[in-house]
Amino acid sequence: MFNSLSDRLTTTFKNLRGKGRLSEADVDQTIREIRRALLDADVALPVVRAFTGSVRERALSEEVSQALNPGQQIVKIVNAELVGILGGQTRRIAFAKRPPTVIMLAGLQGAGKTTLAGKLSHWLKQEGHRPMLVAADLQRPNAVNQLQIVGERAGAYVYAPEPGNGVGDPVQVATDAMDVAKSKLHDVVIVDTAGRLGIDEELMQQARDIRDAVQPDEILFVIDAMIGQDAVATANAFNEGVDFSGVVLSKLDGDSRGGAALSVAQVTGKPIMFASTGESMTDFELFHPDRMADRILD
Ligand code: GDP
Repeated sequence: MFNSLSDRLTTTFKNLRGKGRLSEADVDQTIREIRRALLDADVALPVVRAFTGSVRERALSEEVSQALNPGQQIVKIVNAELVGILGGQTRRIAFAKRPPTVIMLAGLQGAGKTTLAGKLSHWLKQEGHRPMLVAADLQRPNAVNQLQIVGERAGAYVYAPEPGNGVGDPVQVATDAMDVAKSKLHDVVIVDTAGRLGIDEELMQQARDIRDAVQPDEILFVIDAMIGQDAVATANAFNEGVDFSGVVLSKLDGDSRGGAALSVAQVTGKPIMFASTGESMTDFELFHPDRMADRILD
């Protein structure tokens, strides 16, 4: 996903290699190149500004001027700042003290929520949990069916409204599911919610109603890393709408620029928790900001 950004940054740093003291002009030239590389990768402007501002400040400080290898020192600073915009530390799921832990998924249609529900169940099962999936996306006729297929593949029980009962009330479904989870001793409940093509107040209200009914321990906002510049506005709308607790970047296997997705943690102040990197159950990983920064600067 970040190949082009990665190549641009590596080339910039190559030019610094072997240089002794760096002049302010050298630093400014480097900062300009970093800025262009980030903007061309679709990283959001305020994030680029903050990023290059603090890299510049640190690059002109003693930590670099007195370093044996100033070029390498700048790479270290950029790495640390990248880790920072990606959320700092790895953030894991906050499991409830008293099960079940409730994880609600939110995001636009096509973001990858249903796929994630399967991957998350598969991963939770490997971690020794007994996840249950809840089909609270009753907008799309095929959504319930799709979740059932995903649940089967992951070997997780799916709670869904009976077919033929009309559209149904997703809040009621989610509420009923909590009782079922308790009686069937599932310790994690993953609630899939409806997504639409654009931000939609009615959808946001429905997500809030489900949230208020099931009191999730985590609300994961799933975002397609390929949507480019729209990522930031979408993330802001969902952050205001449902106050999510963490971000999942999906489709990181794509070949688009992806920088907008990298901006989401910084813009919303919420951590990226997982990365989805393909269509199979196992294309899924905990998001480690430091590893992602290493990968970009490799
Ligand atoms: P939802 O509408 O948010 O539930 O989105 P879906 O889970 O149905 O995903 C929409 C499409 O994206 C499906 O065709 C998925 O197979 C695909 N998809 C989901 N996650 C990934 C991913 O990480 N990588 C790739 N390449 N495709 C994905």
